[in-house]
Amino acid sequence: MSTETITAFAGAFIDGREYRNGGDPLPITNPGTGEVFAEVPGGTADDVDAAVNAAARAQVQWSALAVSKRGEILGAAAHHLEANLDELMPLLTREQGKTLRDSRIELTKAVDTLMHYVGLAKTLRGAHTPGLDPGVDGMVLRRPLGVVGAIVPWNFPTTLLCNKLAPALVAGNTVVAKPAGTTPLTTLRFAELLAEGGLPAGVFNVVTGSGSVTGTALVTHPQVRKIAFTGSTPVGEQIMALAAPGMKRVTLELGGSDPMIICDDADLDAAASAASMGRFYNCGQACLAIKRVYVFDAVADQVIEAITAKAKRLKVGRGDVKGSQMGPLHTAAQRDEVAGQVTRTLEQGGTLLAGGRPPEDAELEGGFFYAPTVVADPSHESPMAVEEVFGPALPIWRVTDLDEAIARANASPFGLGSSVWTRDLGRARQAAERIEAGYTWINSRTKVYDELPFGGWKSSGYGKEHGSEAFDYYTETKSVVFGNG
Ligand code: NDP
Repeated sequence: MSTETITAFAGAFIDGREYRNGGDPLPITNPGTGEVFAEVPGGTADDVDAAVNAAARAQVQWSALAVSKRGEILGAAAHHLEANLDELMPLLTREQGKTLRDSRIELTKAVDTLMHYVGLAKTLRGAHTPGLDPGVDGMVLRRPLGVVGAIVPWNFPTTLLCNKLAPALVAGNTVVAKPAGTTPLTTLRFAELLAEGGLPAGVFNVVTGSGSVTGTALVTHPQVRKIAFTGSTPVGEQIMALAAPGMKRVTLELGGSDPMIICDDADLDAAASAASMGRFYNCGQACLAIKRVYVFDAVADQVIEAITAKAKRLKVGRGDVKGSQMGPLHTAAQRDEVAGQVTRTLEQGGTLLAGGRPPEDAELEGGFFYAPTVVADPSHESPMAVEEVFGPALPIWRVTDLDEAIARANASPFGLGSSVWTRDLGRARQAAERIEAGYTWINSRTKVYDELPFGGWKSSGYGKEHGSEAFDYYTETKSVVFGNG
């Protein structure tokens, strides 16, 4: 795609058409080369206001449709989107940095999530309780909230959006989305394709711009009834405070530092593969990712060797180059942050077994690359132990038994995901019950299913996405009593 085509984006998509934002241009950089390849006008508070007003107008008619009709319309739009994924893939790779293969996985998953909620549209039920008193019945109604603001980070711009968009729209809300300032292009085209596929004007709007300007304007807009946010824990805390006046609803999907426990009776090859895949997928820039490994002493050497070998074999390269298995980090700042965490960790101890620096490959010059990194036995107080590492660097510790592993796993402010590898049912059950996290995978790689509710404990967030449970976060219930008077 040429630069001309990309600069043609007006910066927002409001009321079913492109809308020119009024703010200063935002440069969009290709993380694989470090080159700015597009500019998009940043949004202002006035642009957010225009988007929210359009969403509020559209919500009246959208919520009046039968829920099955909303599902039908969203399904048709999702099919149109799916037919055009080949156009979106290179755009996502260019602005985000991920490999074309990972762009396909992300976009396919985004469509799957839309279709999952289309399927659930006909299952939305309320409740009826007869005989509350003689001749008195109760009924529980579900009503949409109104306009929902969806704020999304840059690591999975489309799937994280669809986790919010799909249940919100099926439940009768309309949405204004704010993608990260560095990844607006795919989201804008995404909105255009859904509109081409028949989603009515105003039902889904996008305003780009920075978090401090358009993000804050969306969170504080009086007509926005709910903010669905995915991002870092500090920004999540700010949003919770900003949303307090007026009691806006919030769902916060925040950072994580997922532990993986490998017991001495585990399938060690499968566990090592899951650790490598779980840590280096999307260049380690995933909320659910294997960020700490605790392996039983008896099998530690074997596991550490296997994971290190896999890390060293990974082909690091630009996302658009065939054969690349791991792309760059999204920004230079993100790469420097991860590099700093590794350096500060090694200053406190531990053994560097792979990576620990950018790859020495002339072809990668200019891009924000960092080699897949493995550190054995760092300090339990080091940055890699206590902070979220949002990049391709994995710490591994030896532990004596399951009790120690679970205690270490829980010694984190985060509680997003976790995984356990063992063939012992008792150990698996104990781990699933005692680890403080919203998800525990047992002998499974860390895949998120639309069918199951997902959301963090502790500093990893508040509320659930996915599953039919997601509808609870996009509706209010009302208890109605039919008396006998
Ligand atoms: P940030 O919290 O910095 O940004 C996330 C989004 O919020 C961006 O769109 C950003 O805009 C916007 N934003 C920033 N400040 C404000 C504000 N004051 N008001 C409103 N919006 C604002 O997150 P990162 O970019 O660092 O994303 C990575 C984080 O996301 C990691 O911590 C990761 O773990 C987490 N994450 C959590 C997931 C989950 O489901 N639990 C899934 C994926 C990621 P802009 O960038 O334009 O400033």
